Formats: sequence, structure tokens, C-alpha cells
Amino acid sequence: MNEAFASRRDIDAGGAETRRIIAATEALLAASARNTPDGIESLQLKAIIHELPDFFYVKDRDSRFVFANAMVARSFGLGNDEDLAGKRDFDFFDFETARGYFEAEQEIMASGEARLDMEENVPSPAGGRSIWRLTSKLPLRNERGAVVGLIGISRDLTERKRQEDLRRGQAHLLEMIARNEPLETVLEALVLLIEAELDGISGSILMLDREGRRLYHGAAPNLPGAYSRMIDGVIIGPNVGSCGTAAWTSEPVIVEDVTVDPRWEDFRGVVAQFGFRSCWSTPILTAQNNVLGTFALYSNQVRRPTAREIELVALATHIAGIAIERKRGDERIHFMAHHDDLTGLPNRAFFKERMAKTLYHARSSGRKVTVAYLDVDNFKDINDGLGHAAGDDVLKEVASRMANGVRASDMVVRLGGDEFLVVLVHQSSHDAGIMRRLRDLQKVLLKPIQTQNQQVSVTCSIGVASFPSDGATAEELLANADRAMYRAKQLGRNTLQHHHGVCDAEIKLPVSEQEELRQAIVTDQLVLHYQPQVDVMTQQVTGVEALVRWNHPSRGLVPPNEFIPMAEESGLIIPLGLWVLNEACRQARKWQDMGLQPLRVAVNVSAKQFTDPDFARHVAEATERYDLAPRWIELELTESVLMQDAERALETMNALRPLGVRFSIDDFGSGYSSLASLKTFPFDRLKMDRSLIEALPGDKTAVAIGLAVISLAQTLKLTVVAEGVETDAQRDFLRFAKCEEAQGYRFSRPLTADQIPAFLQK
Ligand code: C2E
Ligand code: MG
Ligand code: MG
Repeated sequence: MNEAFASRRDIDAGGAETRRIIAATEALLAASARNTPDGIESLQLKAIIHELPDFFYVKDRDSRFVFANAMVARSFGLGNDEDLAGKRDFDFFDFETARGYFEAEQEIMASGEARLDMEENVPSPAGGRSIWRLTSKLPLRNERGAVVGLIGISRDLTERKRQEDLRRGQAHLLEMIARNEPLETVLEALVLLIEAELDGISGSILMLDREGRRLYHGAAPNLPGAYSRMIDGVIIGPNVGSCGTAAWTSEPVIVEDVTVDPRWEDFRGVVAQFGFRSCWSTPILTAQNNVLGTFALYSNQVRRPTAREIELVALATHIAGIAIERKRGDERIHFMAHHDDLTGLPNRAFFKERMAKTLYHARSSGRKVTVAYLDVDNFKDINDGLGHAAGDDVLKEVASRMANGVRASDMVVRLGGDEFLVVLVHQSSHDAGIMRRLRDLQKVLLKPIQTQNQQVSVTCSIGVASFPSDGATAEELLANADRAMYRAKQLGRNTLQHHHGVCDAEIKLPVSEQEELRQAIVTDQLVLHYQPQVDVMTQQVTGVEALVRWNHPSRGLVPPNEFIPMAEESGLIIPLGLWVLNEACRQARKWQDMGLQPLRVAVNVSAKQFTDPDFARHVAEATERYDLAPRWIELELTESVLMQDAERALETMNALRPLGVRFSIDDFGSGYSSLASLKTFPFDRLKMDRSLIEALPGDKTAVAIGLAVISLAQTLKLTVVAEGVETDAQRDFLRFAKCEEAQGYRFSRPLTADQIPAFLQK
């Protein structure tokens, strides 16, 4: 034995050394197995070694195989273990791999130290996937203790490694689901995981829609996109390929050959160009066995799935089921959190969420958005009188009529109770269309509603606010629409009110009142009264101020302060002012024609009017029309008129002055009176505001200011007219201060045109 492994020649020669090593190995095994029952023959032992599921081999000092069991031979693709004798790893592996083994083995034999439980990734000598092994290599010694070779024992770890990978992948997927990652991402990772476990297989997940009718793309990272698109949205049925059929029957469908299986009849043309031959599809089920979708594997071979493939499909459908169900659950929760139970309409939370997006788009596209706040009139009476069930019926019906009455781009929301919102995105710049649609909605709700045991009729009040004029955010629009709705209620039921502009918070007049005023202008509901202005010394009438009133059919004579601001805000001041101007001219002409002394008529002009480019022309035309010398017309401007657009104001004044038209500054001393404007603009007269006169002559400050204003006016060659003179004391002070003219109740209240001739007679 001491000559064992003597030379290569010996092994090659006849195997005497080999036999000796085998004998030695067997003896060693026998010796190490202390509990081996007596009588076991070495031959038997050899047979057992061949039966081992592990790899077992012995190599000589040159790392040549001396003995190997059947497992080793099979792994090298050899039928007979004898064929291995004398071969080295260099004969089977690529050079680098073989050298790695060789050097490690030489090291073991040189040092005499075993290496145990090494995890090795071994390239498959037959090609294909690499193999994982757990390997131990021990030095083989003779009786004298000299190392004569080595013993190798390996166990195939590939399956265990795969299982581990799979478990890790599965854990990762479950984590993704728990983290609520997008469903598409989870499903795609799932398909990739399964595909990584298999060779030549592509996976696909399809999802069934809520109606249980069509299958839609879920994930198919390695199927041709063209194929996925072609089957996207397929209607399921008893013979709709593998997936459509599996979803229809709730059973796995194994098609070994798509070119002959009758279930693929209609899809053969589609599939032919992609080269698939077999397709095995399994339904993805909920815990209650409802179909959520399908998981399918495609192969290019005509065959049935292997046991392993079936096992992987089971795992995949299980995880896909969890992922899809979880998503549906989330969607359901989201829906419930954003929708109202009774009517199924979106709720306030949904409104806020959606409005942010709607307003964002409206802003970037320059579109308007109208929010209508709708409240059912007297709903409490229905609830109290007919019971809550009837009340619920009414709300449901109102909700469904509204939802059916709007476009897909619009939104109907139930805020709670009997309060609803309609959000309309304007398609054009015409607001008229929107208002008509809202009124139509109001009309639709008027039709009787059938409750369980009786018919009821309801009306509703609507408040409207529009983006961007009535608010920039969902909250602002909601608040303003609510306010407008509240006014609608106050004005009676079944009405619609519009919130007005953010800039004039205190004036929120209903659309109908604006409409009314518009009508009033054309139907002669307006009337002018005239307040005389007198010479303080002689009490002779020097002129009159025209003051407009609205002879309202139900409200009676409405003073200007109640509708001029609205007219200014809505733009109606232009036609209104034009009417006043013409009426004043007509009346002045009439008085002159009656033979009265010619009277200067003062007309009040608003800022919007005065900055209208056509204003100067309007004045010229009006005086011409009534053949009135323009010097009989005086235009009263306030400082705010001048401040709006000083340049344009000066232009207009300069255009009118040559005609002889006069100008007075009205309400001087009531606000931010500035000396500058008196110097800049060509005024003829200064009207000292009533608030200054009021405190005269008792208040020392008022006296001082009054005197200052009068002397200032005289320096600038302006005639001073004191406004709102009510008492003799005030008149006496004005005489003393050399104020030329006055206007006020002390002399006369505003009179009708007919009263003027008599007043002049006095
Ligand atoms: P204003 O131009 O300062 O007109 C004088 C206002 O003082 C008138 O009120 C007049 O009735 C009132 N008044 C006159 N004397 C006295 C008095 O002794 N005591 C008191 N307490 N009040 C007196 P009215 O007619 O209600 O007009 C209010 C304002 O409406 C006017 O103030 C003017 O700013 C505006 N307004 C009137 N008519 C027109 C118009 O045709 N166009 C425009 N743009 N504004 C007008
Ligand atoms: Mg005035
Ligand atoms: Mg005034």
C-alpha cells in the first residue's frame, strides 16, 4: 500500500493502484463507521455508496478520479462510473473552474486539513443553469498516516437554494403589498419572480373588470407588447383561449397545443405570429372564490406543465389574489370615505380633493368653473311630515336627477342633509349656457317625486359662485356659493342667486335685481328730481342738480344710494348715465321752451362713465339732440373719478370744455381732498361736502376748515357751492364767509320737474 498512487502510469496501466485505493477507502469507511454491524461486506458498502443521493468520490494526489459513485458520473453525463477513472476536472469544466478545484484540493492534500461544508456554485457541465452544492473534501491517508489522495462528498443544494430564493421573493412581494405599492408594480415583480424560476416560460396576469365581463392587462413584462395589446379587454367566455376560458369557468385551463385546441379556435391567427404553443392559465380567486383575474404561463413547446410549474402557478395565483384583493379593498375604503352612503354621490372630502385639480387645470387653461350650492326647500317638512324613509327617497331621487342632468366633466356632490353641490366646468366663455343649465336642473327637480306611499313635489334654492371672479380656492367658492344660496332662500323659494365679485364684498345683489334695473332703464322707470342751487346773498336760483330716482313698481321711489353702486359694479351705470344726461338735456330744453329763465343743470357722473372713451361724444350728442347750449350743462365729478384714470379724465375734460360744458368738483372735503387735483383739473365750481356744513357754525374746526376751503377756492377762481345747508345759522355763516352759492333743504328739497316753475316764481 505504501506504493499506492505511485505513478500515473500504474493507473493507466491496469488499475492495480486503483483497486488498492478502493480497498483502502472501503477499509477507511468501515473503520470510521464504528457502529457498522459485523458482516457487512465491502461490496455491499460499495453498492450503498452508489445508491447515495449525494456525490461521493475519491481522487489521487494528482486530483484524478479514482472512484466516484453513480451520482457523480450522472452529473458529468456519463453512464458508467468506471468511465471516470483517471479523468480530471479539466476534462469536464472550463479551465478556470477546473483550476480552482485543483488548487483547493492540492492545498488540502498538502496541509492534510479537511475543508468541510463549502457552498459552491458549480456550472452545469451539461450546460444550462448552474448548480449549488455543499461540498466537503477530506485528505485520504494510508495506514502510516501519509496523505495519498482525497475524499469528496457533495450534496446538491440547488433545490434548497431555489426554495430560499422563492421564499425571499415571496416575502419581498408581500412586503410590497403591505407597503401599498402600485398594483402594476407588484404584479410585474410577481411575474418576474416566477419566470426566474423557470426556463423558456413567459408569464402573464390579466385582471377581470368589476362587471366580470372583460379581462384587462395586469402584468406581462416578457410577453410581446403587441400580443398583450391584442388580448387587452377580451370578453371572457367558454371558448376564449386559456385565460378567457379560465376566468369564465373558474377552473385552470391547460392547453398543450394552441394550434389544435378548440378553445383557441378564435385566437389561432393572433397567437401564430408570436410562436407560443402551450398556454396554461389558472384563475386568481378571492377568499370567496370569486374570479379576480388569471395567471398564465406561455411556452414555445407543446407540453403540459411540470409539477414544479404547477406548484409555482399556485404560489403566483395566491399572491396575485392577495395583491388584487387588497387593492380592491383600498379602493372600496377610498370610495366609502369619499362618497355618501345614501345617494352614492361624492362627498365633501371628494369635492375638496377633486376641486384642487379642477381649479389647477382651469387656471392653466383660463377656463371658468362654477360652483352651485343647492338646498332643497322645506326639506324638514317632508322629513317631519312623511317620515325619514320618505325623506331618504326624496334625497335619492334628487341626487339621481342631478347626476343625470350634468355632463361627464361636471361633478355633483352631496354635502350632507339636503345640501348638494354642482360643479360645472365652463366649455366656452358664455356664462349664459351655465345659468341655463342650472335653471334646467332646478326645473327637473320640480317634477313630482314618488316616495313609498305618496307623491311629493320639491323646489330648491341655488347659490352660485364662479372661479375666478368669486373665489380662488374651493373653500372660498363654497363659502360664497353658500352665502348666495342663503340670499336665494331669503328671496323666496325656487330661486337662483349669484355671488358678486370679490372686490365689492358689501354689494351682493341678486341677478334678478340687476335684470330689473336693466329693464328699468329701458322702460322709463327712472325719474330725475331737481334740487335748486341758490345765490347765498340774494336767494336767487342759479341752477339745479339732477338727482336720479328709481320709480320701482313694488318698492316705490328708490333713492340713488340703493342702486347706483350696483349699477357701477355691473356696468349698468353706462346706459343709466346716458339716460340721465339725455333726460336732463330734454328737461332743460323743455323749461326754456316754457319761457322760464335758462337754468344750469348739474349732472352727476361716475368714474366708470367718465372714463368711457365715448363719454365726450355722448355729451355732445345729447346737447345737440335737444338743441341745448352746452354751457347749461354742468358735470359733477368726485375726486374718485379723477383718481381712477387722471390722464383720461383730463383728456375728456379738455375735449368738453371748448363746447362750454362746465365742471364742478363734488363732495369736496368728504374724503381725501387734495389741492393738487384742484390745480390740475379745469374746474369751475367747488361743492363743499355736506359733512363740513353740518358742523357749522358751532364747531371751531369745521369753521376753520370751511373758511380755508372758501378762501382756497377763491384763490383758484372757483365758485363755492355749499351742500346740505339746512339751517339759517349755516346760511348766515356762509354769507359771512363769502361763500357764493348754496344747496340744501333750507332752500329746497329736490323737486320734480313739474314743481320747478312754481319754485322759480317765488
Ligand atoms: P350728491 O351728488 O352729493 O347729491 C346731493 C345729495 O344730498 C342728494 O341725495 C340730495 O338729496 C342730498 N341733499 C341735498 N340737500 C340736503 C340737505 O339739506 N340735507 C341732507 N341731509 N341731504 C341733502 P340723493 O339724491 O339721495 O343723491 C345721493 C347721491 O347719489 C348723490 O350725491 C350722487 O352722488 C348720487 N347720484 C344721484 N343722482 C345721480 C346720477 O344721476 N348719476 C350718478 N352717477 N350719481 C347720482
Ligand atoms: Mg352731486
Ligand atoms: Mg354732493
